[in-house]
Amino acid sequence: MTRPRIVIGNWKLNPPTLAEALDLARSVARIEAAPVDVGVAPPVVALAAVAHALGESPVRVYAQDIHWEEKGAFTGGTAVGMLRGLAYGSIVGHSEIRRDQGDDDARVAQKTITALRAGLRVLVCVGESEDEFARGQTAAILGRQVGQLFRALYAADEDGSLSERLVGLAYEPIWAIGTGRPATAEHAASAARTIRRVAADEAAYDGDHLSVLYGGSVSPANAAEFAAAEGVDGALVGGASLRAEEFAAIVRAFR
Ligand code: PEP
Repeated sequence: MTRPRIVIGNWKLNPPTLAEALDLARSVARIEAAPVDVGVAPPVVALAAVAHALGESPVRVYAQDIHWEEKGAFTGGTAVGMLRGLAYGSIVGHSEIRRDQGDDDARVAQKTITALRAGLRVLVCVGESEDEFARGQTAAILGRQVGQLFRALYAADEDGSLSERLVGLAYEPIWAIGTGRPATAEHAASAARTIRRVAADEAAYDGDHLSVLYGGSVSPANAAEFAAAEGVDGALVGGASLRAEEFAAIVRAFR
């Protein structure tokens, strides 16, 4: 089957001002993207203004994270209900959130289910650390992360509607994020195979339907290699997504 090509820019805690975020959004809106499905994930405080600046363009707006509870005494959280009508979906499980906020696999699954139940689309990030990579444990780590996610999703998904809203998984080896040392296209392709196999084994999820993106130091110089890698359907882009020309070049590589 043909899966969509998806390129999403994760702006993290950038750009430093709202005015710059709006400039960037206006530039992204001008990218000739079709048929690539393009998204941006600005800081939550900028979501509404960025969505407005994107105007009629097909660029989708994502949150970078959401809270696992729908409401309550959780200072600093973002409720999924508040994103309805504002964001198309959310990234969940980014390694920086796992690192800084202590999200483990159970919490990532909980957040994913909360967001999907609220009607949001979700892109879930997985990936191994530098040490795990050096020890040859990539497949084992993905087995644990993806297995726990799909078992929880399978148990919660009574009519199949939750998994239908899953955008896909982003394979992001932690050692490749922001380091300028991307994984090889072969390593990314092998990780994509592992992710689909685990989803199929754990939840009878049809791997052919599962989009898998690669993230970690994607740039205009290497995007074509990932675009050609078997089973890699797109990219989650950090640093290069802050420069509209570079982001446009990466989108073009996936067209
Ligand atoms: C990311 O943080 O999701 C990411 C892939 O960052 P970078 O492209 O900067 O490595």
